[in-house]
Amino acid sequence: MVRTFGCQMNEHDSERLAGLLEADGYQPVDSESEADVVILNTCCIRENADSKLYGTLGHLKSVKDNNPDLEIMVGGCLAQKDRDLIAEKAPHVGVVFGTHNVGRALELLEEHREGGEQVVEILEETVAADKESFPSALPVVREVGWAAWVTIQIGCDNNCAFCIVPSVRGVEVSRPFGDIVREIEIAATDGVSEVTLLGQNVNSYGRDITLDLRNRVGSAGVPEPSEIADLAGRSFANGQTRARPLFADLLRAVGAIEGIERVRYTSPHPKDLRDDTIAAMAETDSVCAHLHLPLQSGSDRILAAMHRGYTADRYLSRLSRARAAIPDLAVSTDIIVGFPGETEREFAETLEVAAEARFDNAYTFVYSPRPGTEAAEMTAQFVDHGVGVERMKRLRAVVERSSKLAQVARIGNTETVIVEGPSKRNPDRLSGRTEHNRLVHFTPPAPIRGGSVVSVRIVEASITNMIAEFVEVVREPTHKTRIPVTAG
Ligand code: SF4
Repeated sequence: MVRTFGCQMNEHDSERLAGLLEADGYQPVDSESEADVVILNTCCIRENADSKLYGTLGHLKSVKDNNPDLEIMVGGCLAQKDRDLIAEKAPHVGVVFGTHNVGRALELLEEHREGGEQVVEILEETVAADKESFPSALPVVREVGWAAWVTIQIGCDNNCAFCIVPSVRGVEVSRPFGDIVREIEIAATDGVSEVTLLGQNVNSYGRDITLDLRNRVGSAGVPEPSEIADLAGRSFANGQTRARPLFADLLRAVGAIEGIERVRYTSPHPKDLRDDTIAAMAETDSVCAHLHLPLQSGSDRILAAMHRGYTADRYLSRLSRARAAIPDLAVSTDIIVGFPGETEREFAETLEVAAEARFDNAYTFVYSPRPGTEAAEMTAQFVDHGVGVERMKRLRAVVERSSKLAQVARIGNTETVIVEGPSKRNPDRLSGRTEHNRLVHFTPPAPIRGGSVVSVRIVEASITNMIAEFVEVVREPTHKTRIPVTAG
């Protein structure tokens, strides 16, 4: 059993851990009491991640008391950060592993079983040549058969003051271009029609590859054209070594794979949103017209204190370039309110930028410190939590206004939806998503499988979802199985 406590990168790592377990002969189970192995895949981005983990480990201690053969493993970024602390606080854990050695999880379990001792292996960095460092290079048990997450890059070279990622995931390492394309081609033949390219700073994909290639050309280690093509795509094959990110090339290559109908990506950084990426989105039909562009703050002083590398004006001008090039673009964002030192005037600037940006959706957070980050040390400037909550309410009102206008404007439209499954609130209805990632519920005339592409007419819209009338099934899915991975 694999339990996940985190972000999409973590959920994707969990799919790979489930794939490793299945390849080793394990079967998924529904509860810890039936399990031989429980892997807790942790995340330290979420609030109270450690108390959640230790609460679960406390519960698992009693499960293990009843079943001493149960093996408990802890991986992910909290394990990377807290390493010895987990080992010390929870001696009943058999294996602690980090973010750079997901592929070794079962070897470490074997080591623990043979020696009987707790095994802790935390690597400091990922080696590009070690393909197993990329969770996408491991076997996989996908949560749904028609959609795949594909890690294209791990780590982050930025140093946002509020974020723990660089210290737990290391520097940016991009996966070779050819590996990514091959994996998606295989997934497409298995019936996957939607892929989400994952990276901490996804639109700087390939920067490390091209810099490395440029350094090697002219030296004894000059790569062969075939190696260049595999690392960096066909447009580099003639010995070109443009020192620029390859993300746009990758979007076009993935978008051209037969059977792939939707390409999404997350999370890009505004400072790395280049015109060639916007052009690739505009010119590649299968790349969804949806941009998630984290703003974080509308105040230039706060953006600088966060080390975000852009100003509010720069953010807005990149956004307007994207909107000009990509018709009917949906835009979502992340915003933190109450960052240490944020004044009422600076918060008002965030409100102004949010209103001007007309977001379709925003993930808003009241700042809370993550131990180990620069901002967590700024205790003298912490904003009172009540003030942060009140600011977030005002920000939500601004975002919901533009969000509702955008949703209501779609009433009467015929939209294409990929069906996810029964609606959580009304099992007679099905739910699915448009290319803009809008949630749509509709009543089908007959059973329709998840992954089907259907056409619907929008009849009602609220801030969070839309109600539609069924029009027709456009395409049946071709995938085969579904084996769930539980979320914690
Ligand atoms: S870009 Fe900033 S917020 Fe995103 S992972 Fe890197 S350090 Fe964290």
